[in-house]
Amino acid sequence: MTQQADTSTATGASVDIMEQFSRYEKIDASDEFIRQAVEDADLPALMATLAMITGDTSLITGDLKPPTPPMLTAIAPQGGMSHEVQVKAKRLAVEALKKFRDNGSQYKGKPSQTLLDACVSYLISGDLEEYRPLLEHELGIACDLGAPGWKKDEIAPGSRYRVAIIGAGVSGIAAAYRLQQAKVEFTVYEKNEEVGGVWWENRYPGCRLDTPNFAYSLSFAQKPDWPQQFSRQTEIHSYLKTVAESAGMRRNIQFGSEVDTMVFDEHRAIWTLTVRDRSGEITSEEFNAVVTAVGILNRPSLPDIPGLDSFKGKKVHSASWPSNLDLSGKRVALVGTGASAFQIGPSIVGTVSQLKIFQRNPPWMLPTPTYHDDIKSGMQWLLNHVPYYGRWFRFWQFWIAVEGRLPLTEVDDDWDHPVSVGRKNEQLRQGCMEWLAQQYQDRPDLLQKMTPNYPPAAKRMLRDNGVWAAMLKKPHVELNTTGIERITDTGIQTQDGALHEFDVIIFATGFKASDFLSPMRIIGRNGQDLHRDCWAGDCRAYLGITVPGFPNLFMTGGPNTAVVINGSAIFSSECQVEYIMRAIRHLLTQGHKAIDCKKSPYDRYNAWVDAGNLKRAWGAARTTSWYKNSSGRASQTWPYGLLDYWHLTAKFQEEDYEYL
Ligand code: NAP
Repeated sequence: MTQQADTSTATGASVDIMEQFSRYEKIDASDEFIRQAVEDADLPALMATLAMITGDTSLITGDLKPPTPPMLTAIAPQGGMSHEVQVKAKRLAVEALKKFRDNGSQYKGKPSQTLLDACVSYLISGDLEEYRPLLEHELGIACDLGAPGWKKDEIAPGSRYRVAIIGAGVSGIAAAYRLQQAKVEFTVYEKNEEVGGVWWENRYPGCRLDTPNFAYSLSFAQKPDWPQQFSRQTEIHSYLKTVAESAGMRRNIQFGSEVDTMVFDEHRAIWTLTVRDRSGEITSEEFNAVVTAVGILNRPSLPDIPGLDSFKGKKVHSASWPSNLDLSGKRVALVGTGASAFQIGPSIVGTVSQLKIFQRNPPWMLPTPTYHDDIKSGMQWLLNHVPYYGRWFRFWQFWIAVEGRLPLTEVDDDWDHPVSVGRKNEQLRQGCMEWLAQQYQDRPDLLQKMTPNYPPAAKRMLRDNGVWAAMLKKPHVELNTTGIERITDTGIQTQDGALHEFDVIIFATGFKASDFLSPMRIIGRNGQDLHRDCWAGDCRAYLGITVPGFPNLFMTGGPNTAVVINGSAIFSSECQVEYIMRAIRHLLTQGHKAIDCKKSPYDRYNAWVDAGNLKRAWGAARTTSWYKNSSGRASQTWPYGLLDYWHLTAKFQEEDYEYL
């Protein structure tokens, strides 16, 4: 892999962040301790690490290469290595670690290009050349390839250039970090009192990741000591807060500030933002460019059920959980069975006196027996003591998910089945059904209620380690699938006429995902209103980033950028942020005031994305979900591979824009 000079000096803050998360102490462990630690290790990543830090490529040759079978319902442990190969790998790893300890454990050297290539090739199964830039970026050994590599005053000295970032969640932090590296002036407006976005807002009991943690982290702020593979909300929030603090970006964040409107002045090529602070005071600020980083799952959706306001007990949405909510001994309703409900239910069941869950459609669940487990102690020790093991483990997790289960969502045109869209999708369905049957073998009534009547991956699939079934089987729990008729002052009336009385109703009913960028009012060229005149309920963007008629307005997490079953949202965000940095660089070097996406690439791109979504379970199935808008178009989802999005955003295409 191409070696780059350590960019830490050129990019300022990156050095702090890398050091913050990469401290290694001297290895001081007995042979037996090392042996025990290796028993707990993820072997493929460990072998690559040891080969790199010792230079011994015999650790990654021949039968030691993980075969990495395609992902089905479950992921093959240890990259699919056979038992014999695992035994051999462990023996070699122990010997290598002992040598490393005895010869001085502070790894200081920089690996050669050939050595890095060998380590990467050992882990991946595709063509290295095809994936090289993406993999170099994600591995980030001794360099930060997402760094802009330029500074504002070097390419456009003298002039003032100000960027507004709206939102200080994951994407806002990534945008701020890159702008800061380029020494571009920026202000972040954050409606909350803290950074973290959804990871600050969602504080319901049980909130945690449902994608593997190492890959769900920023490439420029890698952390080797995650306590779990699917960490809790507090851990992820603390990580984001540490990143923001280490980078020194908090001074640029205006907390408690919500952007109400943005208006573009075409003559001056300036955006004027109207911002409301926590006291309700309105101020205006002018910027050359705006980056929206508001997320798509940030405006809670309460269902349109008659009588909603008449309930006299406590109503709670999962995303605005009151810190003082005491559920002990309470009769509680949980409306919805999506990702949030799936985490809330098992976490509160031991506290409440009665729990009734109101389900419209059951979710498909991916069997994940270790979902709540801590990373094993030996593995944790290795991650904290073996230099770069955290990076290689993150890289390995990332690689496994590059394609992930995406092939299992493909539509086969000749496939005719009521609850699957293709052959591989049917395989996935059967795998999930086996898990369900096992969970509910003693309760056929629950098995029937928990069996989805739509294809897997048509809606977000959930992680399950059995706690949901255990909860449903408790005597004070009921899964109600009758359908809600209305809400009364004392509870919920179902369509069979029964009245269920409650002290508290929890709405785990999701978010207004398709009202992207609402409730902000955004006025572009010719007085065009983005929501009313351009999208009209059907949000679209070129690369999910720009919209014709709205110059210098850049989105992160925009339309059709959500990955469903492969990769992580953070990867997409970083692609978008780095593309935006390329666009700003182009503007500044060419002396343009603004760029505006042309209509033809926008239309072409969206037609291509729509065609892709129709070939996926979530686009083809007649199912409602937050992936789709009210017209039934999949307006949130990215239907292709991660490499496709990487290539599309890796270069700023000048010809796709007009210049002001
Ligand atoms: P969601 O996936 O949109 O689920 C909403 C649930 O509410 C669904 O079960 C839906 O049923 C139900 N519902 C909506 N209106 C209803 C009504 N009138 N009556 C009865 N049920 C109703 O929302 P979410 O669970 O908050 O999750 C949203 C997304 O946030 C997830 O897909 C995921 O991407 C993200 N998330 C991630 C994590 C994590 O990583 N840990 C955790 C939570 C959420 P239908 O299916 O029938 O529409």
